Amino acid sequence: MEPCNYVIIGAGQAGCRAAIALRDADPDGRIILIGAEPHLPYERPALSKGVLTGAVSPQSIIIKKKEQLDKFAIETHLGHSVEQINLGKRKVVLDDGRSFRFDKLMLATGSRVRRLTVSGVELPHIYSLRTVDDCMALSKRLAECRHLVVVGAGFIGLEVAASARQRFGCEVTVVESGAGVLQRGAPDELRTSIYTLHRSKGIKFLFGDVVSAFEGNGIIERVVLTSGKILHTDCVVIGIGVIPETDLAARAGLEVKDGIVVDDFGETSQPGIFAAGEVTNHLNCFLKTKVRIESWQIAQNQSVVAANNMCGLGSSYNEIPWFWTDHFDNNFQLIGDTGPTLKRVTRLYGEVLQSTTFYIDKGIIVGALCINSGKDIRLVREAIRRGINITQEQLADPTIKLKPHLTPHSVQA
Ligand SMILES: Cc1cc2nc3c(=O)[nH]c(=O)nc-3n(C[C@H](O)[C@H](O)[C@H](O)COP(=O)(O)OP(=O)(O)OC[C@H]3O[C@@H](n4cnc5c(N)ncnc54)[C@H](O)[C@@H]3O)c2cc1C
Repeated sequence: MEPCNYVIIGAGQAGCRAAIALRDADPDGRIILIGAEPHLPYERPALSKGVLTGAVSPQSIIIKKKEQLDKFAIETHLGHSVEQINLGKRKVVLDDGRSFRFDKLMLATGSRVRRLTVSGVELPHIYSLRTVDDCMALSKRLAECRHLVVVGAGFIGLEVAASARQRFGCEVTVVESGAGVLQRGAPDELRTSIYTLHRSKGIKFLFGDVVSAFEGNGIIERVVLTSGKILHTDCVVIGIGVIPETDLAARAGLEVKDGIVVDDFGETSQPGIFAAGEVTNHLNCFLKTKVRIESWQIAQNQSVVAANNMCGLGSSYNEIPWFWTDHFDNNFQLIGDTGPTLKRVTRLYGEVLQSTTFYIDKGIIVGALCINSGKDIRLVREAIRRGINITQEQLADPTIKLKPHLTPHSVQA
């Protein structure tokens, strides 16, 4: 039998993890990994945290070095985009005209940042943060500037605000059109803790206001808001979310609906064509709803499931969603469902900022927020999967260990 030709579009975290999983599952196949960025595959989370604060080197976020990819016989074509997928001829065409034939194809194209369309947005020293190149350019500028305006109080905007203040001592103002920080589905407890922390470190916030223009004489000098306020600044970071990179998939006729639609196995609407990572819209078995999740976890693990299925191994993706974010050396982790209507029980660990809040639905723990208590995550995951025989009072008591209570039971009042 001829060896199988696998092509992966997108050499980010999901693409790289998929390539390695393919090699594990099929020692003989030809694996071609194509990425638009000129860099070896790397993990993005540290860009707004450790790399920006200087605690972590950009080299340390590379997932696999060139020699390791060569050892796995993974062919890399970096700095090139795939411009077309020809499903009939089973080939992809690159921006330099080269084409590669595939038997099985994976799209791991991730997301691109949402742009602001206001006048002056092209002025120098206005940044967004998605790539390592963005991070290095921003870092260089922050070292020279006193004032930073962050547009958007989402996770990335707030992490940048914290890192800029912590490392460079910048005066930071965050402008947010909504009524508070983290407006997209974060639980109140998380919003309040992060907002209070940022305020305590001197970060200023303007809510319910929108940028109407950026102004300056050759470089950014002022941010004009619709309220009429003018913020003087020498650097701006725009963090207003991302858009899934689905254009290529849509042009090829794959089903696209807030991401590339895949089934539990990572297969798209076209047989033999898979997608993985942040770009996918999939049914989350735990949340029982279709979601597109912007997180490290989905890139890391859904990619492996999809790669295994490209080799016919038959496994489905059913993880409990988990996410973390870091601000001023404080770690916040969310797992499972933390919706607004759920009952909450909080365990305080005595430190100023250390707690675990459990989210409970009809006696079952369905989620948690761990603030500087990441050690609880594994047990909460177990409790969500298996159940826990414990009272609410015990749950709130930091001296009670959770592990011995893990059984198929529920939380009692
Ligand atoms: C600054 C930052 C901080 C983050 N922090 C956290 C965190 O704390 N916790 C957490 O859980 N998650 C975090 N995330 C999210 C997480 O990093 C992403 O969800 C993850 O990187 C998604 O990986 P991916 O491989 O699916 O997509 P991506 O990382 O976006 O990779 C996709 C790659 O495909 C390439 N590509 C796209 N189209 C084409 C094409 N046509 N041809 C060739 N190549 C193409 C792109 O250039 C890109 O390199 C953060 C993200 C950022 C940007």
